[in-house]
Amino acid sequence: MDRTTRIAILGAGLAGLTAAGLLQRAGFSVAVYEQSPGFSRIGAGIILGANVAKILRRLDLEHGLATTGIRPDAFLSRAWDSGETLYELVFDAACEARFDGPFVNIHRADLHQLLQQPLTPGTIRFDHKIAGIDETTDGLTLAFENGATAKADLAIGADGIRSKVREIMLGFEEPRFIGRIAPRAVFPAERIKGEPIRDCTKWWAPDRHVLAYYMTARRDEVYVMAAIPAARWDGDGSPVRGNRDEFITALDGFHPDLLRAAEAATDVTVWPIHDRPRNDCWSMGRVVLMGDACHPVRPFMAAGGSMAIEDAAILSRCLVEFDDPSTAFARYAKIRIPRVAEVQRISIDNTWMHGPTETDWFFAYDAFNTPLHA
Ligand SMILES: Cc1cc2nc3c(=O)[nH]c(=O)nc-3n(C[C@H](O)[C@H](O)[C@H](O)COP(=O)(O)OP(=O)(O)OC[C@H]3O[C@@H](n4cnc5c(N)ncnc54)[C@H](O)[C@@H]3O)c2cc1C
Repeated sequence: MDRTTRIAILGAGLAGLTAAGLLQRAGFSVAVYEQSPGFSRIGAGIILGANVAKILRRLDLEHGLATTGIRPDAFLSRAWDSGETLYELVFDAACEARFDGPFVNIHRADLHQLLQQPLTPGTIRFDHKIAGIDETTDGLTLAFENGATAKADLAIGADGIRSKVREIMLGFEEPRFIGRIAPRAVFPAERIKGEPIRDCTKWWAPDRHVLAYYMTARRDEVYVMAAIPAARWDGDGSPVRGNRDEFITALDGFHPDLLRAAEAATDVTVWPIHDRPRNDCWSMGRVVLMGDACHPVRPFMAAGGSMAIEDAAILSRCLVEFDDPSTAFARYAKIRIPRVAEVQRISIDNTWMHGPTETDWFFAYDAFNTPLHA
């Protein structure tokens, strides 16, 4: 596509920032519009595999990713009560060579910082909440809630699960509360009594699970996140302050190795978990969607962020490769939908790495070697 094409990205999340970096490197004029007034340090971690590390390599961020976060020695699945090991994926040198990249756990705020590094200063316009998009003969006019307007040739909706861009394209549709909430806590590792915990463990109970992992190479910051049943959620999609004692009570009967970690939590925040039924309409005219805006996934495979970053890589490549937007958008969706649909299916089943699991198709995937023309 002609490099004079003006590309507007709505939303500076994982998909938006990755796409902005890749498209700027390819020579496009890119502006990112973000609703928030700035980035705050939201207390949460994220798990990323070699499929993401290979994409960040293209932005010269792989080293920063692996040294800011932690390269855990293994992903461990354990039974909630007996502590029996159900599955272990060891991340040794042979595994990194097989996947062609590391597995990294990192604080989300640190990941956000990294993804901003390659961007030209001023690329992100904060306090710009998209409100409307008009398609005219000479392109798009974007209207923001702050009264500002902007022109662009293409718009990429990377504005998350409650995407306004999706609403403009497809009409309003409330995300689906899945009957689970996610209490989570971030705290210094020194608060854990007794032996240090293993680097990254998922604890499996019949109706709930808990993840506990370090987020820094120094193993000094821990993230614990549970998914527990909840009949209803009365708020919107925003997290709310939780109750630490209720959190510990919800883990009654869990193995002492997990309880030692969970009991070290001080502040607990609760996220509702939402998704949407699959909808394969990802673009319309000069507007296209990425990440949670078009395919929110339940966080049970820890893969929604990875899918958003992979989308950014494939969409950027399609915009470089094809001359007209409709071909670029069609190829992008055709390549992405089967993989994302499989991740959505596994996430709904919540079976990923519960027992012996074939993981190469997921972690060894290289978004920059995937054929665009097949
Ligand atoms: C509890 C939990 C744990 C998770 N753990 C993992 C994990 O370990 N690994 C993993 O890969 N994924 C994980 N995920 C999933 C992951 O967080 C999401 O899939 C990912 O953040 C989606 O990225 P995105 O860029 O599409 O959207 P987001 O990261 O949500 O970014 C959207 C951006 O758009 C902005 N925005 C919204 N509306 C507007 C508007 N109208 N105008 C302008 N800007 C707007 C928002 O402020 C935000 O900055 C988890 C999710 C949850 C809920």
